[in-house]
Amino acid sequence: MLVSLLNNEIDEKEYLREYNAKILYRRLPKRIYGFVFKYRDVCIIIINRSLSEENKKKTLLHEFAHIELGHLDKKLLEFSIENVEDEAERYIKSLMGMCIWKRFCC
Ligand SMILES: [Zn+2]
Repeated sequence: MLVSLLNNEIDEKEYLREYNAKILYRRLPKRIYGFVFKYRDVCIIIINRSLSEENKKKTLLHEFAHIELGHLDKKLLEFSIENVEDEAERYIKSLMGMCIWKRFCC
């Protein structure tokens, strides 16, 4: 779960193993931070390699959220992508909130 990753209970490698995912850092057009797709049951995450370390991390979390929310299992129509983007962002925000909360109370 993404929440375990954010809480440092598991590391990125374990997370990738759990979801059968791979990260590839590639040269992409500037406005594309990253994307994710499924190929033969493997989730391939492509991250723009010219991003700052912070943006790479953020993008990675965003793509993880798509995987975890099952967006890759659905056939997405172009017009629905906007909602999916919102859902991924909301999911990360809610998890971040939980992590901050945890840090304050534990
Ligand atoms: Zn997205």
